[in-house]
Parts: sequence; structure tokens; C-alpha cells
Amino acid sequence: HAKMEGRNHYVYYRTTMNDRVGQELALEQGLFEALKSDELEVFYQLQVDVETAEPYGVEALVRWNHPKHGVMAPGVFLPIAEEMGILAHIDEWVLNQACSQGKKWHDVGRQLVVSVNVSKAFFKQPDFIKRVEKALMLSNLEPEYLCLEITENTAALQVDDIREKLRILKGVGVHVSLDDFGTGYSSLSQLSLFPIDTLKIDQSFVRGEPSQTKNAIVRLIIGMAKTLDVSVICEGVETEEQLQLLKDEGCKHAQGYYFSKPVPSAQCEALMRV
Ligand code: C2E
Ligand code: MG
Ligand code: MG
Ligand code: MG
Repeated sequence: HAKMEGRNHYVYYRTTMNDRVGQELALEQGLFEALKSDELEVFYQLQVDVETAEPYGVEALVRWNHPKHGVMAPGVFLPIAEEMGILAHIDEWVLNQACSQGKKWHDVGRQLVVSVNVSKAFFKQPDFIKRVEKALMLSNLEPEYLCLEITENTAALQVDDIREKLRILKGVGVHVSLDDFGTGYSSLSQLSLFPIDTLKIDQSFVRGEPSQTKNAIVRLIIGMAKTLDVSVICEGVETEEQLQLLKDEGCKHAQGYYFSKPVPSAQCEALMRV
């Protein structure tokens, strides 16, 4: 049974298997409609400079304003979109929205880097690069201010294909970061294979109860990033204490509820004090 929540709250499902099939079907139909009827919305979460706490960038995170269930989190509907074969389509829509929004903020004096999540389904499209270039062209956003976040999932594609696409993106001037870093088996081997600009430390190493082990992992990743001369951002920062660790270790950028949750563009703009 779906729990109804207001804006900014997620919908949780506690269901039996049979319910789930029915609900998935209903969601599938709804998702088709959502694409046509403006129910998807891009939320933005601030990314800040650890030293100055000044906004540095935003991550674009998609939401579905479901007519019955309220705001739905991507973890609920993106897997369904993937099964339906429309995930790449949604990613491209988010990319276009985020580039336009980024450009608007630039025009009012906020030179933020806009990060957009790219699924494996989108990245593997033969015309992926063309679609990124098109989003840049339509929005007029300078490529240096776009960062594409890929995950290990994507890195499991054909090595040559990924390298070629990353090489072209680099030529275009777009940045690429490796999201959820440290959670997959092949993280380290990917680093040597692909030209990545930024490592994004997964929130599981930062959030929640502090522990020696988590701190050690954070230190290790930051140290490694320095050695490899890639930049590093940490997600899931919720407390002052966690932020202090990042300061002590020289992590440049951070993102997390301590600074802000993902919010609609107007609210995010208020946070930037434009
Ligand atoms: P992600 O890319 O790793 O994004 C970070 C997630 O962590 C976001 O969840 C964000 O709300 C959450 N988060 C950030 N800071 C904190 C914190 O301090 N505490 C806690 N508890 N959580 C924090 P969200 O928005 O639910 O997104 C979940 C995932 O869905 C994303 O993880 C990303 O993998 C995927 N996603 C979101 N939007 C898109 C999209 O447009 N396209 C694709 N392909 N995937 C997307
Ligand atoms: Mg991300
Ligand atoms: Mg992440
Ligand atoms: Mg994640």
C-alpha cells in the first residue's frame, strides 16, 4: 500500500509480490503519461567548497510528482523506466533541463557546475555524444560547466566504447565523474582505464555512525585521488563532524543534507543567495 506523503517526501512501498506486479503495471502506464504531462521534475542539490562553504555546483536529481502518490524518488521509478526501455529518454530530458537551468543561473551570476547522472542505458546509445552536444547547443551552457556522473554499472560496458566516448567528451570540454566510488568491485581497475576527472566518494562511507574503518576508506580515496591528480567530492555529508573529517583530509568538495537536501530549482536558487 502506497503511503501518501507531501512534497519532498518519498513514497515507500510495503507490498506482497502480487500487489507489486499490479502496482508496477500501474506505474508503467503512469510513467508514459508522466513524460507527456510534465509530471517529472528536476530537483537540485547543492555541492559546496569544503573550505569556504560557498556553492560550487549542483547535482540534478529527477523526481516524479505522481498525481496520487506525491513526490516519488528515482529509486522507485527509474528501475521501472529501465525495464520499459525509456531510461535513456528520461536521462536525456533531465540533461536538457539541467543544462538550461545551469545556463539561467550563469546568467544571473552563479557560475555553478551542473552534474547530471547518466545511466548505462543512455551512455551506450550510439548517438550519446551527439545528444550531449545537442543539449549544450540548445542551452548555450559552456561545456566546462557540465559534469556527467557515470557509475560502475556503465563502466561494465565495452572498454573500448567507453574510452572512446570519454575521450570525445574530454575534447568537447565536458567533465566526467565516477559516482558511488568505492562500492563496486572494479573501481580501481577502472581508474587506470578511463580518463575520469572526479571521484565521488559514496555516501555509505560518510553517512551514519562514524567509524574508524569508514574514516580510513575516506582518507584512502582522498589520498588516491591526489596521487592520480583527479578531484574528489564526497556525498552524504550530514554532520559537522563528517565535514570536519573532509576538511582535515583536504577533500575539496562536498554534498549532503548538512548543506541541503535536493530541492526544486526555485528553492535551490534561494539557497545560493542569488
Ligand atoms: P546518486 O547519483 O548517488 O545521488 C545521490 C543520492 O543521495 C540522492 O538520492 C540524494 O538525495 C542522496 N543524498 C545526498 N546527500 C545525502 C545525505 O546527506 N543523506 C542522505 N541520506 N542522502 C543523501 P536520490 O535523489 O533519491 O537519487 C538516488 C539515485 O537515483 C541517484 O544516486 C542516482 O543514482 C539515481 N538518479 C537520480 N536522478 C537520476 C537521473 O536523472 N538519471 C539517472 N540515470 N539516475 C538518477
Ligand atoms: Mg549522482
Ligand atoms: Mg552517488
Ligand atoms: Mg548513490
